Amino acid sequence: MAKLGIVKVKLDRDVNCYIVSDATTREAVVVDPGTPAEKIAEQLAGTTVRWIVATHGHPGHVGGKDDLKALVGGETAIHSADAKQFLRSADRYLIDEDELDFGEFKMSVVHTPGHTPGSVCLVIANHAFVGDTILAGGIGRQMMSIGTRLLRLPLSTALYPGHGPATSLERELAQNPIFRGAGAATR
Ligand SMILES: [Zn+2]
Ligand SMILES: [Zn+2]
Repeated sequence: MAKLGIVKVKLDRDVNCYIVSDATTREAVVVDPGTPAEKIAEQLAGTTVRWIVATHGHPGHVGGKDDLKALVGGETAIHSADAKQFLRSADRYLIDEDELDFGEFKMSVVHTPGHTPGSVCLVIANHAFVGDTILAGGIGRQMMSIGTRLLRLPLSTALYPGHGPATSLERELAQNPIFRGAGAATR
């Protein structure tokens, strides 16, 4: 199995951008291209950018995508519902269960509407980039159904939120109000 690299880049508005790369081929995906795009581009030296994907359409998470594409290349992607809601264009409009290829990996798109109509979680191996759907120890404005959706993932899944520290599904199941009751019901 090829090795995955994950680098967090802190952006404006305390947004976490993540660079996910295949350590062998050096092909990369950028998750949440906020601003400044230059700060993300600095971390991409030596990689080939395949995808620049937003977890949702809020400006802090997507505002740098076109500047970043101009700097490093790659194709931009956002869920079709948020493209419509926030009048954002992209090279690819995502739907549930889409897959984004890079190197030997595939990143899966899980549509988790609630925080915004087109919010997605991006899942690869036992890592999930969850945008503002789950923040460590807290809940966004999303609905219970999203918690249920994410409960299909293995307990060991690491969660990388759009703001704040990384967490894990196991930890959030125990501590996050969104999961209280849901875990017992479905597992
Ligand atoms: Zn948001
Ligand atoms: Zn946010």
